[in-house]
Amino acid sequence: EIAYEVRGLTKVYGEGAAAVHALRGVDVDVPRGEIVVLLGPSGSGKSTLLNILGGLDRASGGTAQFEGRELTEMSDTDLTRYRRDHVGFVFQFYNLMPSLTAYENVELVTEIARDPMDPGEALRLVGLSERSHHFPAQLSGGEQQRVAIARAIAKQPEVLFCDEPTGALDSTTGRAVLEVLRHVNEELGATVMIVTHAAATAQMADRVIHFADGAIRDVIENKDKRAPS
Ligand code: ADP
Ligand code: ADP
Repeated sequence: EIAYEVRGLTKVYGEGAAAVHALRGVDVDVPRGEIVVLLGPSGSGKSTLLNILGGLDRASGGTAQFEGRELTEMSDTDLTRYRRDHVGFVFQFYNLMPSLTAYENVELVTEIARDPMDPGEALRLVGLSERSHHFPAQLSGGEQQRVAIARAIAKQPEVLFCDEPTGALDSTTGRAVLEVLRHVNEELGATVMIVTHAAATAQMADRVIHFADGAIRDVIENKDKRAPS
């Protein structure tokens, strides 16, 4: 029941004197169905790992398996299919289409997904049913992020990747968004990986991976998971 098995993963951006070693040999297992928080200072390599596991970027060396399939050896076509069928993304900025309602933003994804849920169901899961027909500009930041989460889960991905999902929100609104992610994890059984530099986010995690300078310093299982505060 391991979703990701990562061994000796490296990533170098650029070459020669300008080379940046973003990942310096990462080993980690991500159990299926957990909420895993990647915590560490800015520039420590968290997003780089997330992007490689999510099929948005390629590793320079090492291995990364998803459910036993080697991501680092996939063709571009297979990686695109993996991204489309198995994983969802939520970013700091919501990237909603301004000319479409919340419902229509989610529908854009369900129209091309392999096994989508109903857009209304996705919006219900994030607690936004009553705002389905609002446009992004009519919604608060927290509500826009919940639409982005609904869009990401509507294709029923096995894994939901969130890169600083509360980074643009005040702390109260951020907590509510983390609660939505927890609800999604519980309702859909999806593995949720969250990148953050905010230590408070770690309280809601099953497992916290501490990053520093391109490497994992510590992995801590959280036996006493609680609501974000
Ligand atoms: P974090 O998510 O922990 O803030 P990142 O994974 O974004 O860290 O970045 C790790 C390091 O890699 C940083 O030094 C960053 O500047 C560098 N980096 C990230 N993306 C690129 C890129 N596309 N080109 C060059 N350097 C990059
Ligand atoms: P939050 O504290 O969650 O960020 P806000 O205080 O920004 O929320 O907004 C509170 C409520 O007002 C939200 O339900 C939102 O939908 C509504 N709202 C905010 N801005 C607008 C707007 N420009 N037009 C219509 N409704 C809005």
